[in-house]
Amino acid sequence: MNDNYKIKLFQDEAARCFSQLYKDGYLPNDEMGDVSVRDAESGYVFISIKPGTLRVGEPSAYHGTDFAVVDRDGNPVTHHTIPSENLALHLAVYKARPDVNCIIHTYPLWSSLFSQRKEPLPFVLAEQAEASTDIKCVESAPSMTEAYFNEVIEKLGDQIYVFLYDFGSLAVGANIDNTINYLAWVESVARKVTHASLLGEPLTINPGMAQLVTEGVEYTTDINYDIYNDYDQILFKEEVARGTRLLNLRGYSPSGESGDTSVRDLKTGLIYVSGSPRWCFQRNLQDARGWERFITDVNETIYVPWSEPTCEWYMHVAIYRKRPDIGAIVHTHGEWASVFAILGIDVPLSIIGEGRTGVIPCAKYADAGTHDVAENTADALLHSNCCIMGNHGAVAVGKTMDEAMAVVAWMEQACQKAFNAILAAEGLRADTAAAIRKLTSHQ
Ligand SMILES: [Zn+2]
Repeated sequence: MNDNYKIKLFQDEAARCFSQLYKDGYLPNDEMGDVSVRDAESGYVFISIKPGTLRVGEPSAYHGTDFAVVDRDGNPVTHHTIPSENLALHLAVYKARPDVNCIIHTYPLWSSLFSQRKEPLPFVLAEQAEASTDIKCVESAPSMTEAYFNEVIEKLGDQIYVFLYDFGSLAVGANIDNTINYLAWVESVARKVTHASLLGEPLTINPGMAQLVTEGVEYTTDINYDIYNDYDQILFKEEVARGTRLLNLRGYSPSGESGDTSVRDLKTGLIYVSGSPRWCFQRNLQDARGWERFITDVNETIYVPWSEPTCEWYMHVAIYRKRPDIGAIVHTHGEWASVFAILGIDVPLSIIGEGRTGVIPCAKYADAGTHDVAENTADALLHSNCCIMGNHGAVAVGKTMDEAMAVVAWMEQACQKAFNAILAAEGLRADTAAAIRKLTSHQ
């Protein structure tokens, strides 16, 4: 490929990253973060420019050609723009991590709470096993020195994220879409943990135990497109894809990739389940397509061996087995249900002002993707159309996808109301002066 054209493509990727971060609320203006992508082949790094050298109004207005291009040692490849002053940090990380081709340095809202306290992110939600279970904080004051870079590289290790005291955080990944999702993922977990700790002591899980496993399934790469000749199957697969996209569109998948849905054809008994986001190579759940769906039944028969299901497919099957009356399941890692998942407590409905009694039950924790978590969750749904999953997320069921989605919407709001009702009833008020003393004592 023509080198100049390749450079332009990578510059456009870097500009897309910058623009997306602004749209997602991670960059308040063009001075508060820097991003880079690397072409692993040439070693060239494409990085945002030194703020203030080119005024464009807002980060989404940058064009690819506004991005600076340097070689692996920092020598300029293009000469009309000045690289970010944090270029040396990006280059040091790329040098230490050959698997990384995108770095996002920003000052995110919720991660910053941990970096200012110089605390690691506790392991409290099963979803962390998919991204990173060991996020540490760099404690030295920021500087563009070898010693600082060494601490960043040591604390980052082989993880996808690191908190930087007084300096925001770094997210790293193989490409920009992974990296943006990782940033969203950690932000979401940091927010959930922060909210949960206002109500009680977050329950941690053993990092050695949680593993995302799909037990005993062998996949083939043979693709039999004949399955698409079955019109009913097309409709059901498209319905699951629609439900999977809704998870993201409605904000129930804060990380972009988490959660899954399924529907059951009550006539044939066939169950159609979300595909694994990893397998589908999608940007996020909004890219879910019908062809990726997995088909099974209550006996866990595998009808489409070329399709890799979400790791929670046993859970969907177990719920259908115990609930013959339902035709759709939605599993989320929603913000507010997760707060109670971290605390491992039932949500009392009498406190939310809707004339309800009883609870949204919290199912016992078990590792993601196992038959144990499937059974625990299915049991919690025997007498309820929704439940919290301990240290994990939530599930809602209904006759149709829209009915289950409506339960999810209600459940998220009910959990948010319960959270606020508990805080308000106790009249929580921070000791501001003491908190400021504590935070500034780190300096
Ligand atoms: Zn999950």
